[in-house]
Amino acid sequence: MAPSGPRSIKRGCQRVLYWIPVLFIALIVAWSYYAYVLQLCIESIEDTGEKVVYLLAYHVIFVMFVWAYWKTIFTPPMNPLKEFQLSHSDKELLEREDRGESQQEILRRIATDLPIYTRTNSGAIRFCERCQLLKPDRCHHCSVCDKCILKMDHHCPWVNNCVGFSNYKFFMLFLAYSLLYCLFITATDLQYFIKFWTRGLPDTQAKFHILFLFFSASMFSVSLASLFIYHCWLVCKNRSTLEAVRAPAFRHGTDKNGFSLGFSKNLRQVFGDEVKYWPVPVFSSLGDGCSFPTCLVNLDPEQPSSPSSSSSAMERSSEGRQFPSKPLRESQSRLLSSAPSWSDSEGTTNKDKKGASNPVMTIENEA
Ligand SMILES: [Zn+2]
Ligand SMILES: [Zn+2]
Repeated sequence: MAPSGPRSIKRGCQRVLYWIPVLFIALIVAWSYYAYVLQLCIESIEDTGEKVVYLLAYHVIFVMFVWAYWKTIFTPPMNPLKEFQLSHSDKELLEREDRGESQQEILRRIATDLPIYTRTNSGAIRFCERCQLLKPDRCHHCSVCDKCILKMDHHCPWVNNCVGFSNYKFFMLFLAYSLLYCLFITATDLQYFIKFWTRGLPDTQAKFHILFLFFSASMFSVSLASLFIYHCWLVCKNRSTLEAVRAPAFRHGTDKNGFSLGFSKNLRQVFGDEVKYWPVPVFSSLGDGCSFPTCLVNLDPEQPSSPSSSSSAMERSSEGRQFPSKPLRESQSRLLSSAPSWSDSEGTTNKDKKGASNPVMTIENEA
């Protein structure tokens, strides 16, 4: 159904208003650039060596900060793959049933082919009425974006975007670099801030920029530090903000540590396998965002614990043998490499190599 006139105008106005916080941040950053580079470094600092070192270091941090902020804002959040959408016939079937239990029966049947292990708190399959899809694990519907967002963390007004699987690494880097930016300004501005009060600065307008630069940078440092430390804790525990508020429910009950694979693997899931990419705002998170390895492989017999790919799993099931029906992507399987795995001595290697032809599934030799 096409949106009616007044409603689409209202939505258009809302979309413009949502950019105000981003514009506010952009103006503050632009002013801080002017105040630091022109008023502090060029106008007020007399020592050339100090001036050059400050300007060089400032610009490196500034570029990384703006780059990470840009990527957080403009990386579109990822939505569930079409496999999670209801087919036309399933939709009709669901509409015909009016009892909740029979609808759940249909959803449960569809979910058997999908890597879904979380449930609602009452044990039902998580279904989004609005998007007409089965929610993948860690996926939530965002009311602002009006979409289901993979591994949704929260909707952030300061970036006018949903923070989720596609941009969580960028968001972490944005917090880290903005904190570094504020701390650097606070530290290098401190001696000139003291000079302001001891009347050691020449009586120009630069002294007021130096004063406000110190106040704003130190205030932002405090709030950014608390947010950054909180998100570092979440990464270490492999929890999203939403999961920290309400623990995910699995078939055996809620488990706040369900997705945690241990400190090092949790870190790698967000930042990737190669440490050289960790500080750079390029996508390097592991997995596809639709399915996540859990630490519950031994509790839930349906959960796979070994590397396999869709094609290989299908080939095996066609041979009429009992193998996990819900394969993991290779990059996720690597995260589970130390977990106990089932053994298939016959032909596994060749079949798994086939799965590696998918660019997402680059297999690296385990060290
Ligand atoms: Zn939805
Ligand atoms: Zn959103």
